[in-house]
Amino acid sequence: MTYAMIYEGKAKKIFSTDKADQVVQYFKDDATAFNAQKRGTILGKGIINNKVSERLFLLVEQAGVPTHFVQRLSDREMLTKKVTIVPVEVVVRNVVAGSLAKRLGLKEGEPIEPAIVEWYYKNDALGDPLIADDHVRLMKLATPEQMAEIKRLALKVNSVLQPFFRERQMILVDFKLEFGRYNGKLILADEISPDTCRFLDMSTGESMDKDRFRKDLGRIEEAYREVLKRVCG
Ligand code: C5P
Repeated sequence: MTYAMIYEGKAKKIFSTDKADQVVQYFKDDATAFNAQKRGTILGKGIINNKVSERLFLLVEQAGVPTHFVQRLSDREMLTKKVTIVPVEVVVRNVVAGSLAKRLGLKEGEPIEPAIVEWYYKNDALGDPLIADDHVRLMKLATPEQMAEIKRLALKVNSVLQPFFRERQMILVDFKLEFGRYNGKLILADEISPDTCRFLDMSTGESMDKDRFRKDLGRIEEAYREVLKRVCG
């Protein structure tokens, strides 16, 4: 069966299926950073992100977080529920890094306890700006009740992923989630992968995620393969 492509993003393509309420996510090897000002390819990344996302979606589902995951169809394809994405990127942070360090002048690597949750307006033209609860309400991106539910689910995901990665000798520094509406319910969508998380190797302190691409640290494919091995191996 051939499916029609309905959307192409920076790292994924979305195809329709014969079911109106399901779509296929196809994971590409394309990598972008800094609002697509930096572009490249990470060989095999799509396969790794698909498999890692499958494992992590199943893990959080078991803990009671509803997700769009239905089944992995192939190396690069995942069948998912068709959602309407809430245009808010939800970032959970356990350790100071990235834009948080830069924006507030905080020292990278400092633990954050308890974890914090931030909202970014999902809008490429504006460079995905950090926004406050009141901006979410002003722009009617979601209701305050929906934001409270999203925050609860995001922290639940963190409480499941942190020990999972710790057992695998990895520190979960931060990650980005996206939620969607499905049958009137909020469910976790998109992906959870080395593209959307920061991980540090507990013994070496080295980055095992897209920061290797962002910062030209080298051994990018090797790091992604190591994440796959520890998560799915
Ligand atoms: O860049 P920043 O420090 O805000 O990123 C926080 C986390 O969110 C990182 O794990 C990063 O990989 C992820 N992120 C993402 N997509 C974006 C922005 C951030 O996956 N557009």
